[in-house]
Amino acid sequence: MKLEVVHFPWGYWRRVRSEGAMSGRDTPRIEAPLAGCCHCGNVELALETNMRPEELSLRADTCSFCRKHGARTTSDPSGRVVITVHRPEQLLRYRFGLRTADFLVCGHCGIYVAAVIAEGSSSYATVNVNTLDAVDRFTRPLMPVTYEGESAPERSARRKARWTPALIVEEGRQPSEPDSCGSGGRPPRP
Ligand SMILES: [Zn+2]
Repeated sequence: MKLEVVHFPWGYWRRVRSEGAMSGRDTPRIEAPLAGCCHCGNVELALETNMRPEELSLRADTCSFCRKHGARTTSDPSGRVVITVHRPEQLLRYRFGLRTADFLVCGHCGIYVAAVIAEGSSSYATVNVNTLDAVDRFTRPLMPVTYEGESAPERSARRKARWTPALIVEEGRQPSEPDSCGSGGRPPRP
């Protein structure tokens, strides 16, 4: 993997990865992703994006599922998100309505982390901002959205255009510190 250092206009340096097998839509990647997880740490998110949280969209889907969860979502079609599941047997893939997406809910702690669609060998996701460590930096106005009346093909086309290219990793092992993420810390890395 080739690493480069670029200087972003807002005044600090970050390493970006200029290429990779899962390179989203072929734009440079910021090396430090926006991290997040469910409450128990079973499902972790790493959102790679060249946008700051203050710039990313903030959507509130008015569907009954998102309303009941109080979900606020974001995506970056030029970025990439890696969703790591430590205990896949405790991941719920909930479907409803047109049943065209998997709504990933941790079966242990009950947190809704992301919705994912698969198109051939590619996946796309929208993530629940409330699960990200940088949640307080998402300051754009919350935009209510409704997609009622969409056909399944329309829905698929919209998600492929707007959601973030995604990779789901099912590890099948215990997270290092299951309770640390939800209480404000990150599980330590080996
Ligand atoms: Zn959990």
